Amino acid sequence: TISMAVIDKMGHVAVGTSTNGATFKIPGRVGDGPIPGSSAYGDDEVGACGATGDGDIMMRFLPCYQVVESMRRGMEPQDAAMDAILRIALKYPDFVGAVFAINKKGVHAGACNGWTFQYSVRNSSMQDVEVITVAP
Ligand code: ASP
Repeated sequence: TISMAVIDKMGHVAVGTSTNGATFKIPGRVGDGPIPGSSAYGDDEVGACGATGDGDIMMRFLPCYQVVESMRRGMEPQDAAMDAILRIALKYPDFVGAVFAINKKGVHAGACNGWTFQYSVRNSSMQDVEVITVAP
């Protein structure tokens, strides 16, 4: 899965997800990719979140919606990301998944469970992408 968030110079937030599904696409499976708030969510007033992992579990929690709403209420991206992953891990300790979070100021963070996760960031002052590694 590739989940992406973009904040343009006008401050508009956009998100999207592309996926081949959980270990290839099973005919008829919807997955978490097309469900708003599950694998991606954004709000111009707050920021954005993207996710990857076991979509059949993650879609039950709408972790990206949770992250954006937590940031709206004042949480830093790191805390919001960890909170969303913890909510899932409390019910499914073995689940494999991750989220990244970014607020309108460009502060970003990631959190994961069951694997080491990487995400990339680039802004207009950077020459190239920076790859961030997040340990569980
Ligand atoms: N979330 C995707 C799915 O369950 C899989 C992935 O993130 O790699 O369809």
